[in-house]
Formats: sequence, structure tokens, C-alpha cells
Amino acid sequence: MKFVYGSLIGGIWRDSPSTLRTVNPARPSQPVGTYGQATAAMVDEAVAAAAAAQRAWRKLPAPERCASFARFIDAIEANKERLAEAITAEQGKTLLESRGEIAKACSESRFMLQHVMTAEGTRHVPALRAGVRNIVLRRPRGVIVAITPWNFPVMTPMRKIAPALGFGNAAIIKPSEFTPAAACILGELATGMLPDGLLQVLHGGPDIGNALVGHRGVHGVTFTGSVGTGRRIIAATANNLAELSLELGGKNAVVIHDADDLDACLDQVASAALMCSGQRCTAVSRVLVRRALGERVAKGLAQRASRMRVGDGMDAATQLGPVTHLSQFEHVMSAVSKARSEGALVVAGGQGLEVQGCEGGYFFAPTILDRVEPHSAAAREEIFGPVISIVHYDTFDDAIAILNNVDYGLTAALFSNDAKVIARFVEECETGMLHVNHGTVPDSHMPFGGIKASGVGAYSVGPSAAAFYTTEHSVYLEN
Ligand code: NAD
Repeated sequence: MKFVYGSLIGGIWRDSPSTLRTVNPARPSQPVGTYGQATAAMVDEAVAAAAAAQRAWRKLPAPERCASFARFIDAIEANKERLAEAITAEQGKTLLESRGEIAKACSESRFMLQHVMTAEGTRHVPALRAGVRNIVLRRPRGVIVAITPWNFPVMTPMRKIAPALGFGNAAIIKPSEFTPAAACILGELATGMLPDGLLQVLHGGPDIGNALVGHRGVHGVTFTGSVGTGRRIIAATANNLAELSLELGGKNAVVIHDADDLDACLDQVASAALMCSGQRCTAVSRVLVRRALGERVAKGLAQRASRMRVGDGMDAATQLGPVTHLSQFEHVMSAVSKARSEGALVVAGGQGLEVQGCEGGYFFAPTILDRVEPHSAAAREEIFGPVISIVHYDTFDDAIAILNNVDYGLTAALFSNDAKVIARFVEECETGMLHVNHGTVPDSHMPFGGIKASGVGAYSVGPSAAAFYTTEHSVYLEN
């Protein structure tokens, strides 16, 4: 597989003097794509083209915009296999997971179009003065920049493009430099189907991202990625005071207090933790377990981790693909070695894996760390790899204290049949999403986002996204 793309600006694919290259993480010696990196001048051009396209697009009635976007979603579904292969080739997840990602992206996008159609419209408010009508209305925000990470190369861009365009904005997407192929295919499918300039794709790393988010012609920045980059984006948008919606990291926990069917519970925990090699923002990274159940949970998770077939995501027998890039692999390796030095017991995995036929691939064995100390790095810092840290606790008060003693607040799950315990979890757990008696996989139509260091501004999925993609206006009409 070989992808060659420039940046898509104003409906035209543009070459650049400098390129970035991607490799297959299962076989890093195998090149996958070559992409022309956007220049500063291209950033200016793209912002101008977006503004021009948006001026016409915003005038279309919302049902017409949504119908056009729905046809774009149809085109994505028709190209599912091609997109799935592009995801697996650069990101590494299994083809099954890639297909699931695309299906989820499409269903989420369709729900977002419903939110556009049912969003609160013009409101009439009683006026203080006779002969005056007060109206509150919302209008499209303008030019939206979307910066995305490498773990969901279709779903994260779509999560931003669908509401942006649905609500009447133009979008410029800068995909991750590790996984740009899927965004290029999205750009290709949009060409001829959506107006030129409405959806543009610019390639590059932090420099181009930084130039885009701080550009004076940009009105909103939606970002998914690490906390460090989120902070840099906040600093860069001091230049244009663009509205922000940031989805950041996580240290998601499952609390196992009591479970009727511990096997079923552990099946869900293992899958929520290890799918996509643990590189999902909602992946379970910590298991907090009541001490009486600790040994059974550690043993059960170790068995499940050891049974997983690790390999090339293109191989139908593979259950777990590689980590996406070398520095992420090294980060996982060093987090596990630090956990060991801080006293954790490695009860499964703990090291990189050689896979026959995939020499040099970034494979990391599914890893279970038991008896992790609540204050250690493995219990509190994001690893973003196929690693579960098990922390034992005595009382539910202890569980809540450990659960909330992290910077992040994305998602968490509780397994318990005790009504009081459930009520406390729902009230006291400091995360944007909470699951009781199942893993952390979210529905496509529910608000998606985090609190604390996991998110800033409106959530990107759900009705609250309207607050980011539109602006509010108070109108006073004197007769
Ligand atoms: P990252 O922050 O390194 O990069 C994300 C994107 O930001 C890339 O496109 C990158 O080129 C761009 N970028 C880097 N520096 C920039 C700058 N100064 N200005 C503008 N853009 C810049 O993140 P990553 O390594 O690609 O992804 C992993 C991280 O993403 C993890 O922390 C994970 O938790 C987080 N994540 C969060 C969610 C969520 O919904 N909360 C979802 C997926 C991933």
C-alpha cells in the first residue's frame, strides 16, 4: 500500500517541497505514505478559501446542509474497506477494529446531524420596552480548525467535521503526521460532493498545527490529543482568541467492588483496556479492586491478556495490533519499567514482542501490573498502551479517593450491585462519562467529553457541541 498526497486547499491537491513519510507500525521498514507538508503561505490560502466557502455554505438552510453531509457519510460507508485498510496500515489496529471505527464514525455523524436539526433555534424573549421584540438566535461560528491525533484516524476527524459543517461552518483538518491517509481519503470523497474549500486537509506536525490554530482568520479550534499540546494550543490562540473545544488525555479506571459474574466483568474490562492496544482515550488504564477480590481479578486479567494473539492488524487471526509509533512504544516500555521499580508485580506481559514475519514491529505484550501503589506513576499517569494497573483498596471511601486522585477526568466504570455504592459513584466520581456495570465504550448519541485535565470547553459529541460550533446573538427589534 502506498499513499501519495499533498494538502487539499480550495478543492485542489497541492504539492509541497518538503514531505512527511509514514510507515507500517507492524513492519516499520515498510513505507506507507508520503505527504506534502503545508507551508505558512498554504495556511493563509486555506483560511481564505475556508472563509469564502463558508460565506456561501452558511446561507443554505440547515436541512440542505445536513442532506449534503448525509450523502458524504454514504460515500464513506461505500468506501469502508479502503478506509479500513488505510487506518490499519498506518495506525496498526486490526482490520475488524478499523471497520468498527468507521461504522461508529458514521453513526455518530448521523446523530450529530440530528442534533443540528433539533438544536435550539431562534428564541423570543419578553422585552422590557413596549413595541420591541427581543430575539435570541445562534449563527455559525465561521472557520473551524480541527487538529487530530493518531489513534482514530477516521472517527476523530468525523467527530469534528460533521457538527462543523452541519452547523454551517467550514473546516480545516490537520491530521496526525503518523496517520494522515484516512483524512486524505475523506478529503478525496468530499471533493465534488461538498463545495471547494469547505473541507480542507493540511499536512504537517506541530509547526503547521500551531500556525493554523493561532491564525487570525480562524474562529474556533477543536483539538483532540495530549494535555501538553492542549496547553500550547491555548497559548497560541491568545493571538486570535478563537473559541476552544479540547479533548485531552485520561487515566480511566474501573472500580470492581462486587460482581455477580466476575468472569463477564473481567471480559469487559480486558476488552475496554486492551482494544486498539490500549490507545483509546477511553481505554481502561486502572482497575481498582476491593481487596477481597484482588487475587481473582489479577489472575483473571493475566489469563485474558496472555491469551491474546498479537500481530499484524491485516492478519485476520490478530486480536491486538502494534503500538502506533516508536516513541509511543518507548514510552510504554519506560512506564512499565518505572512501575516495576516502584514495586508493581508484572503478572502478564511486561515487554516488547517479536512477531514472526513482522521483524522490528512495535508490538507490546498485553501487560497486567498488580499491586500498584495508589500514589505511583502507573496508578496516576497516562500510559496509552496495552497496560492495566491493578490497585487494591479496603473501603469504598478509599476507592473514591484513589479514583479521583489523578489530574484527568474522562471516563470511569463501576461494577457493583450495592445501590448506595452506585449512588456515591454517580455523585462523586470526577469524570465526564460514568458507566455502571459495563466497560467504558460510549454510545454514539450521548455527550462525549471529560472534565479536569481531560477536557476544556464544549463536548464534541452531543447537543452541547452547538455552543462551540455556533455563536449566540441578542437581537432587539423595534417595530
Ligand atoms: P499530540 O498532542 O501529540 O498530537 C495531536 C495532534 O496535535 C497532532 O496532529 C499533532 O501534529 C498536533 N500538534 C502537536 N503540537 C501542536 C501544536 N503546538 N499546535 C497545534 N497542533 C499541534 O497527541 P497524540 O500523541 O497524537 O495522541 C495521543 C493523546 O491524545 C493522548 O494523550 C490521548 O489521551 C489523547 N486523546 C484524547 C482523546 C479524547 O477524546 N479525550 C481521544 C484520543 C486521544
